[in-house]
Amino acid sequence: MGDERVKTEALQIIGMFQVLPRLVVFDLDYTLWPFYCECRSKREMPSLYPHAKGILYALKEKGIDLAIASRSPTADIAKTFIDKLSIKSMFVAQEIFSSWTHKTDHFKKIHSSTGVPFDSMLFFDDENRNIQEVSKMGATSILVDNGVNLGALQEGLTKFSENRKTAEKNRQKWLTKYSQKPNSSNKNA
Ligand SMILES: [Mg+2]
Repeated sequence: MGDERVKTEALQIIGMFQVLPRLVVFDLDYTLWPFYCECRSKREMPSLYPHAKGILYALKEKGIDLAIASRSPTADIAKTFIDKLSIKSMFVAQEIFSSWTHKTDHFKKIHSSTGVPFDSMLFFDDENRNIQEVSKMGATSILVDNGVNLGALQEGLTKFSENRKTAEKNRQKWLTKYSQKPNSSNKNA
């Protein structure tokens, strides 16, 4: 399936959801591309997973911002590859650094540079420990098995809207529990 075809299908999937994330964050190795970039040479021409580019374009067209959160120890190679793939300008934030934390540092930085709250973010990664830690911060986090693809996109958007609905229900419960009954002082003359 070519990039255009994937993009069309991704747009159809995105169109099924009323509630959408403001920012979608991607890991690099084994999420956007099928290798560890530390094992590659900068001189090589990298390629993405087959659905990745179409999905990036579709999200962008829908006005959803994109970012990268990678713990790659070779940020220079990662950045060279992003440049070679002509996708550099698509990302509002690129946090690429090795860290002992499971990407919580990356997400704090992304939050402070973009101002997007964690609960408005959707995150794709192939490592369960990153998914666990980042979801605790409030971002909807999806474990990918064989790179990001249309199935993972649909799963992510579904989980994102479910999380939103749950949060809204809890907010309503809280409001009902703690709000005071209306009295005469609330009435505007
Ligand atoms: Mg990875």
